[in-house]
Order: sequence, then C-alpha cells, then structure tokens
Amino acid sequence: MAIYYSCKHCGVHIGKLDVASVDSTSLGFDQLSDQERVEYISYGDQGDVRVKSICEDCYEMLRRNPDLHALDTFIQ
Ligand SMILES: [Zn+2]
Repeated sequence: MAIYYSCKHCGVHIGKLDVASVDSTSLGFDQLSDQERVEYISYGDQGDVRVKSICEDCYEMLRRNPDLHALDTFIQ
C-alpha cells in the first residue's frame, strides 16, 4: 500500500510513502477537518492514498506572493 503525494497547484509528483496499512491517525489525517480531508485526500483503486500537498516551487512562490493563496490553481 502506498501513499502518493502530489502538488495540488502544479500537479508535480512530490513523493511516495510505503506503509503497511493506512492509519489515518498516525498520518495526521485526523487533524484535518472533514472538508480538508475531502479536498486533500483521495483513494485509489488499489487502496492507495493520494494526498494533495504543495511542492517546494509552489511553496516558494506562495511565500513570495501571498495573494496567490486565494487561487487554488494558478498554474494551468
Ligand atoms: Zn507545485
């Protein structure tokens, strides 16, 4: 079972985490609100988990341009 992290802004693949089982508590998912869970986490056919995160490039861009935070997908 694997957890895939990708950037929610540019879609770049950030990383993959192999886990024995997906435990939402140990992954910190329980700290997200229901809305955030729906927004950031999805489940694949094989039981793998896809997490939307942010890559270093986009993080850096948002840090320099905080106004862009309002735009969910500023890179098309
Ligand atoms: Zn990105």
